[in-house]
Amino acid sequence: MEKPKIALYWCSSCGGCEESVLDLAEDLLDLAESVDVLFWPVAIDMKYHDVEMIPDGGITATLINGAVRMDNQEQMAKILRKKSQLIIAHGSCAHLGGVVGLANFFERRGILNRSFKEVPTVKNSEGVLPGNETKESRKELGLPHFHNTVKALDQVIEVDYYIPGCPPTPQLIKKALLAILHGGLPLKGSVLAEKKALCYFCSRKESKPDMIEIKRFKRLYEEEWDPARCFLDQGLICLGPATRGGCAERCIKANMPCRGCFGPPDKVTDQGAKTLSFLASLFKSTNEKELKRLFNSIPDPAGLFYRYGLASSILKGKMIRQ
Ligand code: SF4
Ligand code: SF4
Repeated sequence: MEKPKIALYWCSSCGGCEESVLDLAEDLLDLAESVDVLFWPVAIDMKYHDVEMIPDGGITATLINGAVRMDNQEQMAKILRKKSQLIIAHGSCAHLGGVVGLANFFERRGILNRSFKEVPTVKNSEGVLPGNETKESRKELGLPHFHNTVKALDQVIEVDYYIPGCPPTPQLIKKALLAILHGGLPLKGSVLAEKKALCYFCSRKESKPDMIEIKRFKRLYEEEWDPARCFLDQGLICLGPATRGGCAERCIKANMPCRGCFGPPDKVTDQGAKTLSFLASLFKSTNEKELKRLFNSIPDPAGLFYRYGLASSILKGKMIRQ
């Protein structure tokens, strides 16, 4: 019997999601037995031309990680969409734009200037910025176009399922692959994790009081944190109330508060707005000056609220004017 055919691809990615596949450990051997991997740039030397030769719909499922910033990524995502029966957005960057999407707070030119002119370790006396075409040793070289904004995968192609996380846990990847191979996938468009917020599953939830009043948000380095008590009750921002569960509490178990990489739970549209709303509910003062002082004790609010989801949030690509 023919084996199901799998492909893996990365766009603007740190490589962590590729590592998360390796974290399948010995399960990787079973996977290798049960599927044919047709395309996986990080592991197999194949050319784009080889992918174009695959018949439309010839790949059972393609896992794509990373956000979309360059036109070669967009082009490959579109080709893989045509070639694949299922497209799975693998990890926060493909799911929501991820950390890479924070670049949407800045303009394209500002990013290029910073990276190629202003960084102290860069020597670029002529102020040359990367272009689409360049001549090197009399050879014409083409470079992919760097788009104005970062996009989540479903802003470029239709996505069938999402595996959340930065990176996703091997358990979630395994579960998703088993469902693809043996049936049992939920409704199209589902995020393959829990539907409810992390607090609902958190081992510290019993210590979370019904009413919390915050006088000042503390920073991680300030204290030794009680490993059994809810972070919010200790005055430390934890994004558990605005974040989808299913991460196996990796951060909480390491005594680190949740930073939101699983994105918003079902029925929450915007994780940043939800975070702002639950944090505001912890401010009991009605004095404007006091409220300002409290808000100012939140370190980097935009970066904190939208660390993983700016590109797919209601703000999308809005930029902070410097
Ligand atoms: S989701 Fe996280 S681990 Fe995966 S590519 Fe993006 S930054 Fe890296
Ligand atoms: S706020 Fe954080 S520590 Fe507290 S119950 Fe929710 S996830 Fe757990």
